[in-house]
Amino acid sequence: MSLERTFSIIKPDATRRNLTGKINAKFEAAGLRIVAQKRIQMTKAQAESFYGVHAERPFFDELCEFMCSEPVIVQVLEGEGAISRNREVMGATNPVDAAEGTIRAEFAESVGENSVHGSDAPETAAEEIAYFFSGLELIG
Ligand code: UDP
Ligand code: MG
Repeated sequence: MSLERTFSIIKPDATRRNLTGKINAKFEAAGLRIVAQKRIQMTKAQAESFYGVHAERPFFDELCEFMCSEPVIVQVLEGEGAISRNREVMGATNPVDAAEGTIRAEFAESVGENSVHGSDAPETAAEEIAYFFSGLELIG
């Protein structure tokens, strides 16, 4: 496996409950290094574009409303096989299906308000990082 970077969001349900540190500790314990991180509030247009792949899904409007409802932490995580390792640490989309010890098992409130986003493939990771971070923010 090679050193990779993936894109992560700590979602509004988690920032609202002051869980940023606890979630970051899970990433770090799994060998993922937080190499870039900032707190932003997405606009509706940004959320709709970011989740464009889900535009036809019944939960799309609710998801975009939720994602811009309060600030989020956007971040870049680096490590060996970071994309799949992060998906493992996150757990399944629906917290009732998430394995014990995963972020979603411990913290998610529902299938929609599930505390974290993580890229699912190298192409989406590269696109999502570039959507939220400039080159100057990604040095080192
Ligand atoms: N989502 C939802 N209802 C569903 C499936 C997904 O509200 O039935 C939301 C949820 O917040 C999820 C996001 O849409 O994290 C993106 O869905 P995806 O299938 O990509 O799940 P993920 O990659 O986040 O595990
Ligand atoms: Mg996804």
